[in-house]
Order: sequence, then C-alpha cells, then structure tokens
Amino acid sequence: MATVKLPEAADHLSAVWGRYGDFIADHAEGVYVYDTEGRRHLDFTSGIGVTNTGHCHPKVVAAIREQAGKMIHAELNIQYHQPVFRLIDELRTVVPPNLDAFFFTNSGAEAVEGAIKLARQTSHRANVIAFQGAFHGRTYMAMSLTNSKSMYRQGYAPLVAGVHIAPFPYHYRMQMTESDATEFCLNELRFMFATQCPPDDTAAIIIESVLGEGGYVVPSKAFMQGLRQICDEFGILLILDEVQSGFGRTGKWFACEHYGIQPDIMVMAKGLASGMPLSAIAARKSIMDKWIVSSHGGTYTGNAIGCAAAVATIQAMKEERMIENAAKVGGFFMDGLSELQGRYPVIGDVRGVGLMIAAEFGTPRAPNTKAAKELLHKAGDDGLMLLTCGPFDNTIRFVPPLIVTQQQAEDALNIIDKALGTL
Ligand code: PLP
Repeated sequence: MATVKLPEAADHLSAVWGRYGDFIADHAEGVYVYDTEGRRHLDFTSGIGVTNTGHCHPKVVAAIREQAGKMIHAELNIQYHQPVFRLIDELRTVVPPNLDAFFFTNSGAEAVEGAIKLARQTSHRANVIAFQGAFHGRTYMAMSLTNSKSMYRQGYAPLVAGVHIAPFPYHYRMQMTESDATEFCLNELRFMFATQCPPDDTAAIIIESVLGEGGYVVPSKAFMQGLRQICDEFGILLILDEVQSGFGRTGKWFACEHYGIQPDIMVMAKGLASGMPLSAIAARKSIMDKWIVSSHGGTYTGNAIGCAAAVATIQAMKEERMIENAAKVGGFFMDGLSELQGRYPVIGDVRGVGLMIAAEFGTPRAPNTKAAKELLHKAGDDGLMLLTCGPFDNTIRFVPPLIVTQQQAEDALNIIDKALGTL
C-alpha cells in the first residue's frame, strides 16, 4: 500500500476508526475520489453504500446550497418546515404503498433504535428477533441486534435484554441448497418460539433485506415470504432494515420488492440523502399513530438540509433512471466476476443483486481472508477502492454509485483481474 505523509493532527484522531486506505481525500465527483496528491480513485465503495447518486451530484449540491441559505436548523419540535413535507411526498412514491407515516432521524443505528422502540411501545411486547450475521448499527440496541462480527460487541456487555438471534439462510456457508437452507431457517424460527422466545411476547422480527456487513447474502424469496407469513400468524411486526439495500442499490427502489413482500416498518438511511446524515423510519400509519407523543425524538431529527438533499436525491434517481442502470451494469459486473471466478479458484462464491455484489474468497470451511485483503490493497494501489465484509473479512463487496457506466465497471474488472493474477 502506498504511504502518504499525514499531518500531525492524524495522531490525535481517535484510534477507534478502522480505515481501508491511507490517502487524504481532496474532493470527489461522480464515481471518482481525488486525493491531495492528485491521484484519481475509482470508488466501488460509495462511502459504504451512501453516494448512490454519485459524489456531489449537481442537483443534490444545489438543493443543499439553497436550503443552507434559507434555514439550516429548523427544529421539528418547534415548527414545521417545507423540505420535510416535500420529502414525505417523494418517499410515498417509492416506498412500499402500505407504509404511509414517517419519522426522520440522523443515522442508520438511530433509525433502528427508533423502530424497535416503536415496535415495543405499540405492541406491548418485549422480545425482538434478529438474524445471524446481522449488522444494524453501533448504539446499544442496534449493537445488541448486531452479530456480523463479535468485535462489534467486544467489551460492551451487558447488551440490551430481550434480543434473540435466529439462523439466516446463508446457504453457501451452510453448505446447503438454497431451498434446504430456507426450510431449515424457517423451521428453526418456529423451534425458537417453542423453546425460548414465546411468539406472544415477541414485538418484532428485524432483518436486512440483503445481508450487508455480514457478507452480502441475498435470502431466498421463499424465506422472506415465509417470514412475512410467520409474522402475520403471530401478530409480530416485520421490520425490514433497508439501510444498505435501499435507494436503488439492488436494482429496485427497495430490495423487498424482489420478494413481493411489504414490511410493517422499514428503516432507511445511507442512500437516502446522498451523504447528508439523514435516516428514516417508515411504518403503517396505524402503528405510527400509536407512538406516544414526545416519547421519542431528538434535536436534529428531520434536519431541513438533510430533507432537501433527500428530495433532490430521489428526483435525480428518477430523472436519470439510476435504478435501471444499477440493474443493467450490476448484471454486467456479476457476469465479469463469474468469469474471473472460472479462472481464479481462490474465489469461492460470487453473489449479489443489482449493484450489491460480492466475491467470497476461499471455501465455506476455509475462508481465505489473506487473499481478499491482498486483492483489496493491490486494487487500491491501482486506483480502485473496495471494501471487505463477512465474519472473516474474506468477502469483497462491490458497491459503486448507481451512475457507474459499463466502461467503468470494465475498468474495475481489469484492475481486479490484474490483482488476482499476482495473488
Ligand atoms: N443497518 C444496516 C443494514 C447497515 O449496513 C448499517 C451501516 O452500515 C446500519 C444499519 C447502521 O447505520 P449507521 O452506520 O448510519 O448508524
């Protein structure tokens, strides 16, 4: 990895931040990040799935500038503001139609926290079921639901009580067919009800529509439909975490569209506002209306600039047909990766949907973290920004902005091919 001379202030950054690259970003545009030494980096991370419209999309920049000149902090407990109403109008055209009430907050973790508080308070039930490999954030409840790596919980116990973890159908790792893994996991959920988590005490089941940090694993349609059915059977709220899979990432507005299901509550963040810290909880109004006034909130919730950026984000995605592009270029990129897998057996699995794509290194019983990390660093030296994920960090995820062209996808594949040839 190339080394860059850092200013003295770098010694005073908290050590808690891990970091993939060591360059200093100067500015960014579209799918490229430019560093202070004039190098250009092809960004296949999107700041972990955030800059879906590309860095500094002109329409988003204009909306931020305009709102910043009008009013920055228009606290929603004190008055209404226009961007929040405009955002609700836009969101209602893209979220599952049964979700017709919204709460806005700042981060994915905060949206998850709020969604669980909403589910617990309105159902009068305590338990929550999450899944193996889940990542829902780093605040206490979100962390208690998170188990994609034990490191995220290290030294933080005791965690929040009432959380139960069920198996997720990661059929490659389980060395099962997709349908066997689906059946096994749905049966295990019913077994959990019989043995440790009475359904009548269960407020919600929360699941990422596509497992993100846990390894970019797409559950089967039958599994997601089975979950919906189980929730309906026992009056349990189904919360979908679309923080990473939302806003066109999978070639649909939200990944749940692939499964033909609608959640009772959905959490969104990341791609929502192209990088402004904004997240949202969407729920059926019949649920949201039962949330006791002022029992949840926050100083910055529904920030006006964030809402204005989100309106511009959704409009730009529609006008420039970014979701169609994600499906098209995603298919091209997956085909390219599968071709590389044929030539480089170190790649054990290629999977994904839209532009939420991954290559897992090694085998289910012998994860090859070293190969994944070497590839990441070599590609980085060649100007391609990548991320890992999965419990052993042996999976590379490919998360470019949705505006990526076929040519840029080919450029990335060429860099990966070259790096794989040297492993
Ligand atoms: N949920 C999912 C699926 C995520 O991928 C993340 C972050 O990576 C979160 C929640 C937490 O979001 P944040 O980091 O904004 O708190």
